[in-house]
Amino acid sequence: MRLSFEQLDMIKEKMGVDKLWSFSKVGTYDQCSWLYKLKYIDKLRVKGDNCYTWWGSVAHEIIQDWYEGKYPEYGQMLEELEKKVIEYSMLDDKKLKFPSDKEWENYIANLRHYFSHVETIPFKVTNEQAVLAVFEGLEKYVFQGYIDSEYIDEDDCLVILDYKTSSMSGFTGKKLIEKARQLMIYAIGISQHGRMIDGEMRKFPLDKIKIRYDMMKYCNITFMQKNGKPKTTKAERKLWVAHIANPLRKDLEDVPKNIEKLEKEIAKLEKKMNMKKTTPEDAEGYSVACGEIALEIEALKPYVFDPIQINEMIEKATVLNDLSVFPPFVQEKYTVGNCHIDVEMTDEVIEEFKRELVDTLDTIITKTAEEDKEEAFNRSRIENSDSYYCVNLCDLKDHCQFYKEFKEHNEMFITKQNQPSEQDLLAMLGLV
Ligand code: SF4
Repeated sequence: MRLSFEQLDMIKEKMGVDKLWSFSKVGTYDQCSWLYKLKYIDKLRVKGDNCYTWWGSVAHEIIQDWYEGKYPEYGQMLEELEKKVIEYSMLDDKKLKFPSDKEWENYIANLRHYFSHVETIPFKVTNEQAVLAVFEGLEKYVFQGYIDSEYIDEDDCLVILDYKTSSMSGFTGKKLIEKARQLMIYAIGISQHGRMIDGEMRKFPLDKIKIRYDMMKYCNITFMQKNGKPKTTKAERKLWVAHIANPLRKDLEDVPKNIEKLEKEIAKLEKKMNMKKTTPEDAEGYSVACGEIALEIEALKPYVFDPIQINEMIEKATVLNDLSVFPPFVQEKYTVGNCHIDVEMTDEVIEEFKRELVDTLDTIITKTAEEDKEEAFNRSRIENSDSYYCVNLCDLKDHCQFYKEFKEHNEMFITKQNQPSEQDLLAMLGLV
């Protein structure tokens, strides 16, 4: 539920502050101090989405609608996605185009797989609940935001779930902690103010709150290894079968070996059966076991394939991106689940995060109070190595002097690169 302006004003009054902070505001500063100036000091706004925000909103809406019971059947999620694909194809907006057709095809293939295979969370899920978090620094900082989805899990923990349609890069190690700042603010907020669950206000200390990402573009593939331990590997959804091509090949190549092993087991049991010391009861037991193993062998025999057949099956399965061409024992071995990434919030992590956050907020308000804002929010030039955000994601790049310089510099470089070398020039003029 989104709060109205009046409700937000009421919160400000109640909390004794004149403004509310959002994660995106402080996140913008962390991303680029100049962008912060353009957005929050100069108040420049660019209307409209880019392709990632447009599709991100679509994906959020579909999964949240599913949890809110707006679709009578699971299959309707995919239908809704397909409706959006049609709507998107009819939009004539340059800003909504993907950088390349290939990127668009990959993106939508992953979403199609997600909305036809996503595992439904088996708990009551609520969406877009408002949350407040308070931090003390040079001022009292009150954050207000909304949580994509939340639920109480089997450990009686409150799970904060955030849907991501982006790539998984940066969602590991120290970078993951950086990525999780927004969710940590929400977790701290819930630990401060509690949560209304089914009409009852409940307290959740931080160790009873989990923060989790649902990486929609990816899935977890789980299978049992030879050592009896399950293994889980992450893969892009549209490529999940290709990702396990090697273990699949091994499953099929191992069939003759497995038959041989079973035959040896039968031989062993028969030997035991014929020993003098074997009692008639034991012999009966061995005979039953032999019969069962013989059945297993018979069941495996139709699945002895030559290398060419195996290659063909793997190729076909990779194109279909499912296991339907494989024998049942292969199909049953692999399960595809949601790709969740959990962030571990230790006391040290939280304390360090709070310190850094308050430092950043203190810096922002100090800079905002300075006379010369250009100087206060200045940044270094854009380098190729850190240009991805500027080129692909910054909605104010067309208003940015640093981006202008970066483009001019690169164009100059390209022009220089296109110039013929001295040797080529002499050759062109017939002087060598
Ligand atoms: S283009 Fe880059 S440098 Fe310019 S405002 Fe955007 S993020 Fe900052």
